[in-house]
Amino acid sequence: MHYWKTESTPSNNNEHEIPVDVLRKISVSRKESGTHVDTVVTTIDGQRYDTKELDNDPDFSETAEWAFPIFQISRKYPKTILSRLTYNIFQQSELFRIFKVSPIKFFNFFHALEKGYWEIPYHNRIHAADVLHGCYYLSVHPVRPQFGVVKSPDSLLPAPLPVAASVMSQMSTLELMALFTAAAMHDYDHPGRTNAFLVTVEDKKAILYNDRSVLENHHAAESWKLLCRPENHFIENLDPAEMKRFRYLVLEYILATDLKQHFEIIMTFNDRLSDMDLQVESDRLLVGKLLIKMADINSPTKPYGLHRQWTDRICEEFYEQGDDEKKRGLAITPYMDRGDAQVAKLQDSFIAHVVSPLAQAMHESGLLPILPGLETSELMINMQHNHRKWKEEIEIETASYDSTTCNGGNVNGVIEEESASTSDSPDPQRDSPSLDSELSQVPFTICCSIAEEEYV
Ligand code: AMP
Ligand code: ZN
Repeated sequence: MHYWKTESTPSNNNEHEIPVDVLRKISVSRKESGTHVDTVVTTIDGQRYDTKELDNDPDFSETAEWAFPIFQISRKYPKTILSRLTYNIFQQSELFRIFKVSPIKFFNFFHALEKGYWEIPYHNRIHAADVLHGCYYLSVHPVRPQFGVVKSPDSLLPAPLPVAASVMSQMSTLELMALFTAAAMHDYDHPGRTNAFLVTVEDKKAILYNDRSVLENHHAAESWKLLCRPENHFIENLDPAEMKRFRYLVLEYILATDLKQHFEIIMTFNDRLSDMDLQVESDRLLVGKLLIKMADINSPTKPYGLHRQWTDRICEEFYEQGDDEKKRGLAITPYMDRGDAQVAKLQDSFIAHVVSPLAQAMHESGLLPILPGLETSELMINMQHNHRKWKEEIEIETASYDSTTCNGGNVNGVIEEESASTSDSPDPQRDSPSLDSELSQVPFTICCSIAEEEYV
């Protein structure tokens, strides 16, 4: 039975004669001509991809940039942004060649996957593509991990500068393919409601997964089922041991995106730091989890224009949940009431309590790329800039509230110290105690409940 048609044959059949083991050892940065999969592929549902065009598509020439213009590209390819970007990243990483991936099954799967993302403001296929892009950026650029640096305890000399190498070059290609695939799959069939909401309304997904990581379990299970359809099974050439490990990794990566595990994962990483060794499989898994988590909540670390668009989208999705809660006679979750929008406060809280601890942990351990010409990671520069902007907005709002109510406000418009400090601890009811300083001092139960309630 034919689910597809090809309009030309692969340019190089000899690649099949190279032993897979040898192929897997080839550096992912090496480029060879004649190994491209230059076929035109039509998927089972009639979507056509010209891979020659894709290989030379200037829209994807900036995939290694942190400021990758995702919205601009998604306007051009609204239905196929995820499959196109995944193709591009698999090609860059030579995964088609290394794992003998059938382009037809690849496109069948990734197009079916992107069709399974809902047309909702935030958890759509653009977000999936954005997370995949984040994983690629964080793994492809050289980093200088500060862990595993051996220094004689009585040496007076400073520790040698760690060697710069990409995370990609230290992961196995199977781990890399699992990370990219998990990123594309990680929010599949997201209904635009939070775990807490699904549990409250006793949604059938919450019943099925016993209220635990309801959405993440759903994304993983349903997208895995989709992958296992014969026409989509692009990993068919893995041997049974690789297949088992691939599944294990994909599930671990997707389940790690539940924010309920946020602080546990960061603390595990910080605890492991002194003994961390990327030769050890479980340490590489932990680093892979950090990468997908950072990519998943990356928006405050992007240039303001991108961060602003993601913020508007997540807020709109939250308000739609708030509308639904109102209709059902439920209490509206904080920050989800469109009649009481508190965008700046939400962002301040999200950055201070959720994004910053992860970004800091990665930055301090040398896992964030620092591009030539920069003194620090652009993620940190953007995050600090965006955070400052939100804090300023809160200060302005507080000052104008104070001056209109004459309630402790300064009529000359000078911001009182008290109102300026409000942004450090935005809403005592929602955010106490402050979590943005020493992670190790934060009781796990508090972190956990903050994550459980979507940190609000
Ligand atoms: P995920 O649902 O896998 O995308 O997990 C990430 C979660 O982080 C989202 O569900 C949102 O609740 C939250 N999040 C991401 N970006 C923002 C943002 N800019 N402001 C507030 N919450 C955010
Ligand atoms: Zn996500």
